[in-house]
Amino acid sequence: METKQFQAESKRLLEMMINSIYSQKEVFLRELISNASDAIDKIYYKALTDENLTFDKDSYYIKIEADKNSRQLKIIDTGIGMTKEELESNLGTIAKSGSLAFKKETELKDGFDIIGQFGVGFYAAFMVADVVTVISKAVGSDEAYKWESHGADGYTIEPYEKDTVGTEIILQIKENTEDETYDEYLEEYRLKQIIKKYSDFIRYPIKMDVTSK
Ligand code: ADP
Ligand code: MG
Repeated sequence: METKQFQAESKRLLEMMINSIYSQKEVFLRELISNASDAIDKIYYKALTDENLTFDKDSYYIKIEADKNSRQLKIIDTGIGMTKEELESNLGTIAKSGSLAFKKETELKDGFDIIGQFGVGFYAAFMVADVVTVISKAVGSDEAYKWESHGADGYTIEPYEKDTVGTEIILQIKENTEDETYDEYLEEYRLKQIIKKYSDFIRYPIKMDVTSK
C-alpha cells in the first residue's frame, strides 16, 4: 500500500471547501452522480470508435446503495473506470489556485455554480463523509485499485479485486453532531428528493437500493 500527500494547494482548497464553499451539503450527490454520468458518456464515446467495445444502453447505469447499519452510501457506475495513474492524477490533484482566486474574486456565497467546473466536485463527498473510498477498474485493464482518503491528510492506493469495469464510490457517512445531521443521507426518501432536484436530467438510469437492518 502506498500513502501519498495531497499537494499543498490541494490541501488548502480541500479544507476550505469542506468548511465553506458549499452552501448545501446535499450537492455532494449531484457531483458524484454527474461524475458517474460523465464516466458512462466516456465509455459510450469510446465504444463508438473502438470496435472491440459495444455499448448496450441497458447495461449502463448508476446505482445508489445505502446501508444504515454500516452508515455507508455507495455510488456505483458502469462507466469507463480509472487506472491507478488516473486515480492518482484525477483524485489526488485538487484544483489549483485558479479556483481559490476565483472564489476570492467573486466572493460567491452560494458555491453552487463553481462546483464541477474546476475539478473539485468530487471533494464535496467530504462534507458528508469521514472516509471516501473509490474502487475502480478501467476499461481494458486487468487490474483494479482502491483509493481511500480521510480528507486533507492525503490518500492511500492499493490493488483491489473488482470484476467489472467501472467505479464504486463508498462514503462512510459522518455521525450526527449537535449542530448537524447526516442520517438523512442514508434515507431513501431524502436521497430520492436530492436526485430529483439535481439529477433529473441524467441520461442513464439511476437505481436505488436502501437497507436498514
Ligand atoms: P470535474 O468533474 O469537474 O472534472 P471532479 O472533482 O468532480 O471534477 O472529478 C475529477 C475527475 O475525477 C473527473 O474529471 C474524472 O476524470 C475523475 N472521476 C471522478 N469520478 C469518476 C467516476 N465515477 N468515474 C471515472 N472517473 C471519475
Ligand atoms: Mg465532477
